[in-house]
Amino acid sequence: MSDYLEGLNPPQRAAVEQMEGPMIIIAGAGSGKTRVLTYRIAHLLKNGVDSFQILSLTFTNKAAREMKERIGAVVGKSEAKNLWMGTFHSVFARILRSEADKLGYPSSFTIYDSQDTVRLMNSIIKELGLNKEQYKTKAILGRISQFKNNLITVKAYRNNPELIEADTMAMRPQMGAIYKAYVDRCFKAGAMDFDDLLLRTNELLVRFPDVLSKYQDRFRYVMVDEYQDTNHSQYLIVRALADRFQNICVVGDDSQSIYAFRGANINNILNFQKDYPDVKTFKLEQNYRSTSNIVEAANSLIEKNKTRLDKTIFTANDEGGKIKIMRTLSDGEEGRWVANSIFENAMNLQKTYDDFAILYRTNAQSRAMEDALRKKGIKYKIYGGLSFYQRKEIKDLLAYLRVIINPNDEEALKRVINYPARGIGATTIDKLTIAANHYGKSMFNVLQDLDNTDIKIQGATKNKLVNFSNLIEGFQISAQANNAFEVADEVVKRIGLIKDLQGDGTPEAVSKVENVQELLNGVKDFIEERKEQDLDNSLTAFLEDVALATSQDSKEDDEPMVSLMTIHLSKGLEYPYVYIPGMEETLFPSAMSINTRSELEEERRLFYVAITRAETQCYLSFAHTRYRWGKLIDCEPSRFLEEIDEKYIEHLAPQRDKVVANRFVDSNLFEDDIPRDKIRFRKPVSRSIRNQDKPAEKKTPFKQPQNLKRVTPSLAQKLGTSKPAQKLAVGNKVNHAKFGNGEVLQVEGTGVNIKAEVKFEGIGTKKILLQFAKLNIL
Ligand code: ATP
Ligand code: MG
Repeated sequence: MSDYLEGLNPPQRAAVEQMEGPMIIIAGAGSGKTRVLTYRIAHLLKNGVDSFQILSLTFTNKAAREMKERIGAVVGKSEAKNLWMGTFHSVFARILRSEADKLGYPSSFTIYDSQDTVRLMNSIIKELGLNKEQYKTKAILGRISQFKNNLITVKAYRNNPELIEADTMAMRPQMGAIYKAYVDRCFKAGAMDFDDLLLRTNELLVRFPDVLSKYQDRFRYVMVDEYQDTNHSQYLIVRALADRFQNICVVGDDSQSIYAFRGANINNILNFQKDYPDVKTFKLEQNYRSTSNIVEAANSLIEKNKTRLDKTIFTANDEGGKIKIMRTLSDGEEGRWVANSIFENAMNLQKTYDDFAILYRTNAQSRAMEDALRKKGIKYKIYGGLSFYQRKEIKDLLAYLRVIINPNDEEALKRVINYPARGIGATTIDKLTIAANHYGKSMFNVLQDLDNTDIKIQGATKNKLVNFSNLIEGFQISAQANNAFEVADEVVKRIGLIKDLQGDGTPEAVSKVENVQELLNGVKDFIEERKEQDLDNSLTAFLEDVALATSQDSKEDDEPMVSLMTIHLSKGLEYPYVYIPGMEETLFPSAMSINTRSELEEERRLFYVAITRAETQCYLSFAHTRYRWGKLIDCEPSRFLEEIDEKYIEHLAPQRDKVVANRFVDSNLFEDDIPRDKIRFRKPVSRSIRNQDKPAEKKTPFKQPQNLKRVTPSLAQKLGTSKPAQKLAVGNKVNHAKFGNGEVLQVEGTGVNIKAEVKFEGIGTKKILLQFAKLNIL
């Protein structure tokens, strides 16, 4: 018996030992699907399969790295290095680099991220003279993404009267023209967006049979994790590559399919059985990740979905604690509760912050969480959202590097042509864009050849343009002789980036400078790391690495930190303690996803994914009021809370915290002014035992979930009827129980949102929400 297979149960082992032919594992969360893939690769290698011949597609590059490490431990690091492993995007970007010329692209093509594509689309809509309201950038880009993921090219679109009609009906008759302009501009800029990486790979495999044959021969064993979330384009690539040897193994869970909105197609699982009639199907039924309370709670939830494959999932793990539900008055208070609870759990249970994750439905929710964690001195890292590489100063510097590698990259060029400011204005840039379109050249080519174009540019501006193009050409020459770090360092110095960022020496400016330094450190690390591994360490390779760093791939820090991310990004991951805040109607399920059963079922699957990330304990919370779109809104608890079998749930007693609220509402004001009886909060615990002095989870039996409904819908409404907003005017002298006397400087907002800015003697200016504060006019 080979001991490296010992850590598998019999069905897992059977799947690992099935080396040849098509196979599929559809099984519930935490049942070891990813583990089986990892072991299976090790097993193939142990049985003489060449490491270069294995292609394994994962959901994140981080997952691929971890798998490689584990496989390396069994078969040796150097063998594991040869495996083709990564996300669809990173693996096929790599292939496209070496085949780019066949498609008319430079091998140094740029990968446009979402900011680039938004900028490009904005400019196309403007150039075509279309109405911005009618042609909303994000909606148009979403539509184009749909086309690309279904392999509908511009030509195919034009030949498809149904699609054209659908867009006309949707008041977007110019969709075809926009699509064409977008594709042309990307092509001319030598740029591919994320969907292109798949679309162009398909194009490559279809148009060039010899290329297809080469990769079919190379990838004799193909594996795909999270197969339920592959889109049509990805499906076709996998099918084409595996066609010759048919050694294809896919794993997934239909209950975790959460990317339908981005074109993922659950039918790929069903099609798989049709495509490969002799497919072997494996079932994994034991969950190793979570306590039985978590597994059962998740099961009871997902049963509410009508469309799902029949699966059993059980666990031999301990029962564990029940799923805990907390409710708070506001999102700010929710954040503080989460931070306190993490702090206390870490202290009391001897855990490190790495053991905790906060998973939310929308990125915007991170702010309240971040504020609370920061105030409590808890370190955290955010996956997704504004990651390091999305910060402006970093994007600016990267844009220089991109232009050096690919001067046709129009979005990068536009970003840097007048940054740091060198007197090249928007009008000049517009003229250059028009000229580039007119001559069918790239903007940089126009710049280099200003004398031979008939754009009217004044002498002084012309000099600035010539200087700029000389600057870039100088960098290009330097890039031929120097490594990526030397080039980046030279750029920073020559363009005076540090000086520009230092500006007024504010903490923000300092942090920007630090970020730039950090990027340079990053380039250096990259070069060293690649050198060690004998891999490409050119500037092109660095930029690709950055462009494809999925948001989960942020650099690991040694210090333990709480992980914050959207539920979408948490797929495949696991944490001992998971917090899911914002369990409210219109937030989760999202207001945009409650109109059809299939949308609602996808939201439920998303919730299922969130719960099943937890190993030991799962906390859910909701707030009665929340700031959304700049307004205070009343919230109703999520319907999903009632869908989990009550057996597995425990309601925590609400606690008022004493920390000063971050916005204009001082939470002390809650103490006196909120008619608690009306909102059915339990009596607050006494002050001395609030906060860290006491575990947050003070268990109090609570007659729920029926009560959940009754506290809703409208805290503010109830408050409003019981206590009308005061009529205050600027200049009024007022008294506040805590802050003393002051003068009203400003009154703004309406209804329950009326707030006053009051200058209190000896205290300073405070914003007070009149709904909550008692201000007596003197
Ligand atoms: P998800 O659906 O969330 O992606 P999964 O099915 O891929 O989950 P894994 O991540 O592979 O599940 O496994 C879940 C956890 O259970 C991991 O920590 C894994 O190491 C552990 N595990 C799986 N199988 C076994 C086993 N036979 N013995 C011990 N631990 C196991
Ligand atoms: Mg997995």
